Amino acid sequence: MSTVQELSTKEKPQWCPGCGNFSLHMALKTALSELGIPREKAVMATGIGCSGKSNHYINTYGYESLHGRSVPTAAGIKLANHELTVIAEGGDGDGYGIGSAHFLHSFRRNIDMLYIVHDNAIYGLTTGQASPMTQKGMKTKSTPHGNLEIPFNPLAVAIAAGGTFAARVFAGDIMHMKDVFKQAIAHKGFALVDVLQPCVTFNKLNTFQFWQQRVYKLDATHDTSNKAAALEKAFEEVNSGYAKIPIGVFYKEERPTYESEAPQLQSGPLVKHAVANEAIEKALDEFM
Ligand code: SF4
Repeated sequence: MSTVQELSTKEKPQWCPGCGNFSLHMALKTALSELGIPREKAVMATGIGCSGKSNHYINTYGYESLHGRSVPTAAGIKLANHELTVIAEGGDGDGYGIGSAHFLHSFRRNIDMLYIVHDNAIYGLTTGQASPMTQKGMKTKSTPHGNLEIPFNPLAVAIAAGGTFAARVFAGDIMHMKDVFKQAIAHKGFALVDVLQPCVTFNKLNTFQFWQQRVYKLDATHDTSNKAAALEKAFEEVNSGYAKIPIGVFYKEERPTYESEAPQLQSGPLVKHAVANEAIEKALDEFM
């Protein structure tokens, strides 16, 4: 296992003081440490945005990919070596906007990995444009007269699209966030954790105080195997006019992962396959 200290790099974070990214990363490193996952057995792929800097500060293997492409990059890593713990990270603009097609299809594919979305309802790195999670009516640099679009609903989409683990947490509750990350990493399949992560610099509406006053934890009375109940909870934020926002695990189910059924992976990870005796002349003739 690796300690939280061993999982931290020496890089000085470039995030704004007070950003929700700090507690998110402390929760993630603590989750990895408590699960006994050594840093050399974990890989993080990120997209572009403030969240894209994540693998500068966590001492696992890492890959900073293109905008909206952390999920397919992480999927490729997992298929190359399914013995690794693989995490994809990105913002709500990155994942729910630019990478939305990857997001949608990842649920039916069910590759075993954790996808963390830094959901701050704004484009932070580019200094405050409306994102897919920006509330209707909110004034931003790109919507000076108020946002005309309603927000995306990632949890409802995840559940409806065949997701096997869908959760939301709040960056202001680090212990709860850590517990949900642990469940998501332990889950065998594609696990989405949407993190309400305040951008303290460019989103003056969805602040720590805003979420603190509205979130509540799903308790044992919520049946995480009941898809209809999970969808109802996923719509509660909008249906209550942002008065009640549930956090916790909304839905989970057991279903075989992609890699557990791929015939090419039954004899072990691709990176451990012997390649020395493979005849490649035919492929070279065809493609070269
Ligand atoms: S711009 Fe917003 S999301 Fe980015 S580091 Fe600053 S506070 Fe965090």
